[in-house]
Parts: sequence; structure tokens; C-alpha cells
Amino acid sequence: VQAIYEPKGRALEYAPLACNLYRGCGHGCTYCYAPATIRMNRDEFHGNPQPRLGILEALEKDAKKLAGDPRPVLLSFTCDPYQPINDQYGLTRQAIHILNRNNLAVHILTKRGKLAAHDFDLLERNPLNAFGTTLTWTSPTTSREWEPGASLPEERWEALRLAHKRHIPTWVSLEPALSPRAAIMNIRITRDYVDLYKIGKWNYDARAKEIDWPAFREEVTALLDRLGKKYLIKRDLREA
Ligand code: SF4
Repeated sequence: VQAIYEPKGRALEYAPLACNLYRGCGHGCTYCYAPATIRMNRDEFHGNPQPRLGILEALEKDAKKLAGDPRPVLLSFTCDPYQPINDQYGLTRQAIHILNRNNLAVHILTKRGKLAAHDFDLLERNPLNAFGTTLTWTSPTTSREWEPGASLPEERWEALRLAHKRHIPTWVSLEPALSPRAAIMNIRITRDYVDLYKIGKWNYDARAKEIDWPAFREEVTALLDRLGKKYLIKRDLREA
């Protein structure tokens, strides 16, 4: 089992190294394309997520080899590190321990709220660790419809606020940008406690073709420049 890997293509813009602790994800986002990425049946991916066999042992080994590498390790690309089964297995907490011990920075990306904050005591131990959430909607009803298992926007904002209060660097992924309007609102709401925004498009969906991406790119960059925030526009949006 390989635990830490170098993502390819689009994913590389997000993180130079990553690790997926679970196979599948119970958040059940309607736009999720992870099952196709790991060639897994969609119903099984969302309905029966499982810890990857031998993942912590493999992580221990890989982390030892990479010890001290300045590249952060993203948790995770093809699953959410704080999806509901993590409450039972707690692999994410153990993984952060392993990465901390080997002097490797960890960057969290989740759609969970206060339950993710339980591990902030570990994130605090390395100033290069960071806590991030994906923000798509601001309305709880729409959020529930599109991301049925994930925490509501309010809870994700709260987790970011808490991380910032504890001096853990915070970031937000505004990808997929399902609604440019909601993305702009999410920036306005979270501006005081988010250090970095990463913005991309919404791909692989016919509805995304109706969105005026150049207009969104201009609006979002103008706003972030005005607010003096750090941001990364992903290549697909830069070239849209
Ligand atoms: S949180 Fe990510 S991996 Fe999990 S269902 Fe949603 S889009 Fe898929």
C-alpha cells in the first residue's frame, strides 16, 4: 500500500503530496467525481466507505522516508478525512500524529465542522500545518440537498473561525464553484479568519456550461485584491 503520493494533473495544483485514509466517502455530495477517479462503484463509494487496509502502517513507513520534506501532505483528495466513519475509526487523528512526528506538514481539507476541531491540538504543533474547508453554498437547505452528509456552511465557518483563533493557518477551497454568487458570499463572510483562498471551476457537469467563468474570475480576483487576501486561481479558471 502506498500512503503518501504525488497527485497528478489538476490535483497537483492543490497539493504536492497527498494521502487518502479511507476508501469511499459518506458525505455523498451529488457532484462528487471521486468514485470515477478511484474506479469504484458510486453507490458503494458513498454507501459503504471503509478504512484503507494497512493504511497507518504504510503511512508510518512513507512518512519516515520523507521525514523533514518541506512539501505539505494533503488529507485528502478522494475522501473527506472527517467523514462520519472517522468518528468511529479516528484514522485522521492518528495520521496527523504520524506526520507531526516525522516533521511533515499536514493540510486538512474537509466539509466537516466542529468535529474536525477536535484535532486542532495536533495541528497547532507545527506552524506549517493548515486547516481548510470546501465552501460551496451559504444556504443550509441547498447545502443539505447537494452535500447531504457534510456539515452545514455555518458549522464550517465556525471551524475556520476556531482554527484562526488558535493561530492555525486557514484556507478555503472554492471548488467546485457550483454558484459564483455563493462563492463571492462565502469570501465576504469568511474574510476575517481565512488566510488563503483557492478558486477553481465546476467541471464535468452540463450545468457548469451556463456559468460565465471569465466574469466570475474577474469578480473574484477584484474582490480578493480589494480585501488584500492571498489566493490561488486554478489553471482551469485562469484559462476559462
Ligand atoms: S466530501 Fe469530497 S469525496 Fe466526499 S462525497 Fe463530497 S466530493 Fe466526494
